[in-house]
Amino acid sequence: MPTRVVTLSGADTEVPEEALAQLRMTVRGNVLVPGDPAFAEIRRPYNAMHPGSPALVVRASGTADVIDAVNFARENGLLLAVRGGGHSVAGLSSVDGGMLLDLALMNGVDVDPDARIVRVQGGALWGDVDRETQVFGLVAPGGVVSDTGVAGLTLGGGEGWVRRKHGLSCDNVVSAQVVTADGQVRTASADVNPDLFWAIRGGGGNFGVVTSLTFTLHPLGPMVAFAGVFYPAADAAQVLRGFREWAATAPDEVTALWGCTTLPAHEQLPPEIHDTPFVVVGAVYAGDVDEGMDVLAPLRELGTPLVDISQPLPFVGVQAAFDPFFQRGDLRSYWKSTYLGELTDQAVDLIAGRAQNRPSERTFVVVFLMGGEINRLSAADTAYSERSAPWMVSIDGNWTDPAQDSAVISWAREAWGEVAELGTGGVYLNFTGLDDEAPTTGVDRGYGDNMRRLAEIKAKYDPTNLFRLNNNIVPEGG
Ligand SMILES: Cc1cc2nc3c(=O)[nH]c(=O)nc-3n(C[C@H](O)[C@H](O)[C@H](O)COP(=O)(O)OP(=O)(O)OC[C@H]3O[C@@H](n4cnc5c(N)ncnc54)[C@H](O)[C@@H]3O)c2cc1C
Repeated sequence: MPTRVVTLSGADTEVPEEALAQLRMTVRGNVLVPGDPAFAEIRRPYNAMHPGSPALVVRASGTADVIDAVNFARENGLLLAVRGGGHSVAGLSSVDGGMLLDLALMNGVDVDPDARIVRVQGGALWGDVDRETQVFGLVAPGGVVSDTGVAGLTLGGGEGWVRRKHGLSCDNVVSAQVVTADGQVRTASADVNPDLFWAIRGGGGNFGVVTSLTFTLHPLGPMVAFAGVFYPAADAAQVLRGFREWAATAPDEVTALWGCTTLPAHEQLPPEIHDTPFVVVGAVYAGDVDEGMDVLAPLRELGTPLVDISQPLPFVGVQAAFDPFFQRGDLRSYWKSTYLGELTDQAVDLIAGRAQNRPSERTFVVVFLMGGEINRLSAADTAYSERSAPWMVSIDGNWTDPAQDSAVISWAREAWGEVAELGTGGVYLNFTGLDDEAPTTGVDRGYGDNMRRLAEIKAKYDPTNLFRLNNNIVPEGG
C-alpha cells in the first residue's frame, strides 16, 4: 500500500517508497504507518475531541531523529505536527492524514544540583522533571497537572504553583536546543541566537522543534504548605470576594487560585465533595512550611467549608493532585482565558454567576492569582507579553458526551466574551480552545505588541511556515 500523506497545501501526496525506506534505515526510534503494531504506542493526546489520525509517524529517540524527520517533512512538503506532552487543548499536536513527530521517547531529565540547573528533553512531562529535581530539594516552575508536557507548556508561558515567587516556566529557561525548519540544530540563549531565545519564551512551537530546555532551579520541598478548602458552590461570590481581599496583601511566596466545578467520587477526594458542586480555594507557599500554613490560614475562613484538606504536603503530591481528573482521552475540552487588571465587584458577580450555571459538571471556571515575579519583567522582555495583570480567568469547558460539543463550546465562548469585556484584552495562548479561532481572539490578543517582532523572527527561522500546527505566527511577508 502506498503511503499517502497530507501536504502543506492540504492536498495529499504519495510518499516515495525509497524515501520512506531510507528514513526507516536512519531513524533510531520508529517510523510508523497505520496498521503497524507499534502505532498503539504513540503518545495519546489529552483532548478526546482531537485524537488525530496521522498517516506517518516518527517517534524520535533523540535530536538526530528530529533532524531527519524535519528534513523529511520539508523535502516532501508534508503537513507536520509536533507532539511534546500532547496536552494541547486546541489539538495543536494532532493531525489528520499528515505527519506526526512524537517526542515521547525523548523524556530525559538531567539535574546539575551544584549549578542549580536541569536539562530536560523535548518530550518530557512535568512529572518526570519534578521526580528528579525533588531528589535535590529543587524545583523548575511547571504547571499544576504533572502529566502535561514540559515543552508545549513552557514555549507558551507556563503557569504553575510557584509562579509568583519564581516566575513563569519560560522565564526560567536559560537555554534551549532547537531544530529549525532547515534541519539545523541551534542553541538559543541570551548569548547565542538571542532573537530565537526571545521568541521561544512564549511564541510556542513556531520556530522549530525544541529538543531540550535548560531551566534554572530553586530550592523547594520536599514538603510545602498547602491550602485546599472546599466551599459550597452557592457561596461562590462571597468566597471570591474574600479571596480577592486576602490576595491584595499576599506575599510573592503565595501562589493561589479560586475554582468552581463538580468532580466524581474518587478515592483521592474527600467524600463530602463527591458529585457535589464546589468552590475550591487552593494555594501553595514557596517558603518555610510553618510560616506558610499561618499565611494561608485566612483562606480557610472565607465561609463554612464543605471540607478543608489544608496541610503540609509533599510538593510532588500537590503537583499530581489534579491528575486523576484530567486523564488522557477521557474528556472533551474547549478552554478560553482572559487577563483582568482588576477583580471588580462586577467581575466577581459575573464569574460567580457563570460558575454556578455551568453547562456540564466537569466545566471548570478558574480565577488565577498572577503578579509577583511574573510582573517584574516587561511586556517586550519575552514573547509572552502579559506582564501587568494581577488576575487571569479561565473558562474551561470539559465534558464527555459528543452530543454536548456545540452547547458547551457556545457557552464557553459566551461566558468568555462577557468576562473579556472587563479584561485587559490579552489571552493566555496555552488555554485556547480550537485551532480555527479567529486570530483576533487568539494570537493577536496573545502576542499583542510583540506580534511584529515575532513575525520577523518567524520569517528568519521558518520562512515557509513548516511549523504551522501551533498558535501560528505567519512569517513576515508570507
Ligand atoms: C489538563 C491540563 C492541565 C493544564 N495545566 C496547565 C498549567 O497548570 N499551566 C499552564 O501554563 N498550562 C497548563 N495547561 C495548558 C498547557 O500549557 C498546554 O496545553 C501546552 O500546550 C501543553 O504542552 P504539551 O507539550 O503537553 O502539548 P502538545 O499538545 O504536545 O503541544 C502543544 C503545542 O506545543 C508544540 N510543542 C510541543 N512540544 C514541542 C517541542 N518539543 N518543540 C516544539 N514545539 C512543541 C506543539 O507542536 C503544539 O503546537 C494544561 C492543559 C491541560 C489539558
